Amino acid sequence: GQCVVNCPVGALRERDDVGMVLDAVEDDEVITVVQVAPAVRTAWGESFGLSKEFATAKRLVGGLRKIGFDYIFDTTFAADMTIMEEGSEFLERLPEIKESGLPMFTSCCPGWVKFIKSQYPDMADRLSSAKSPQQMFGAITKSYYAQKLGVDPEKIFCVSIMPCLAKKDEYTWDGAKDVDAVLTTREVERLFKAFFIKTDELEEDEFDNPLGESTGAGVIFGATGGVMEAALRSAYYLVTKKNPEPDAFKAVRGLDGWKEAEFDLDGTDIKVAVASGLGNTRRLMNAIKKGEVHYDFVEIMSCPGGCINGGGQPFKDDASMVEERRNVLYGLDKHNNIRFSHENPSVIKCYEEYFEKPLSHKSHEILHVKHV
Ligand code: SF4
Repeated sequence: GQCVVNCPVGALRERDDVGMVLDAVEDDEVITVVQVAPAVRTAWGESFGLSKEFATAKRLVGGLRKIGFDYIFDTTFAADMTIMEEGSEFLERLPEIKESGLPMFTSCCPGWVKFIKSQYPDMADRLSSAKSPQQMFGAITKSYYAQKLGVDPEKIFCVSIMPCLAKKDEYTWDGAKDVDAVLTTREVERLFKAFFIKTDELEEDEFDNPLGESTGAGVIFGATGGVMEAALRSAYYLVTKKNPEPDAFKAVRGLDGWKEAEFDLDGTDIKVAVASGLGNTRRLMNAIKKGEVHYDFVEIMSCPGGCINGGGQPFKDDASMVEERRNVLYGLDKHNNIRFSHENPSVIKCYEEYFEKPLSHKSHEILHVKHV
């Protein structure tokens, strides 16, 4: 059935995809592949009254396994791929960015992409052409992974679990059906209840591989500033062939609505800004248009605080919950052995076996999208 809720990013209807997903899971002819976004792991246990320590990503995998998905993967793998593409694109566009005085914008939040296209259409060509992690994940599954499995991509039904309502409509933009169904964190709650899954008794289980391998850089995508920080970590490496300190760009962290920072990238001064919430975004965009501020790279997320506070997450009545969710992500980053997208072994393999290198012909065809 359909249910309608208020979406913080622009009057979207919450289409209920649970039935569609269950049909696919029950169909033996269909291969179901599910991806879990970074922000979901910070909040899925809240409505079951589970602690943050107990409600881990691995326990969520345990629950999804009981429902019967064939492969359970991690959107953070695709976030790392997004960084490889977007970081390389930023470096390629940098001379033009410096010349025009106009920044490149991140493109992974569909609420923001919709906003810039309707409110500032003359700036839409400043968006990165890299698909968002959700779309990239679907596109990689139906190309590289289908080839690896030796199956027709048509047989794969790709499900996303997202903190977001806008993600439900994202896949239709470029006509390609990278993702077949999108469940919000709240819909997963309904799914678990429908299957009588005792969440407080769930065991931890591992993501499947190869598309389940993630890094600390991929996981912080779920918080405002995370995409920027992950991109700078890898851009630094791409320019210097050396890794920076993993925390070198932490100035972009925090829940402030409009942050800015300046970094030295091997002798080139890079000025960045990070905004979340559409009010802050409008102020920032107007300042850019009036020439009051100049940035090279700008990250925008529609939801205040980023995807951890997305419209598909469990409802909360106090703001400290957003801070708690944020702490989960930065804790996961800190304790991950790999903190750079370019060091994700599955990402390296994916390029070796299929895409060749970031911005290759194949990457452009499958992992990028035209915004204008
Ligand atoms: Fe969706 Fe909000 Fe995240 Fe944007 S910031 S991708 S609208 S959850």
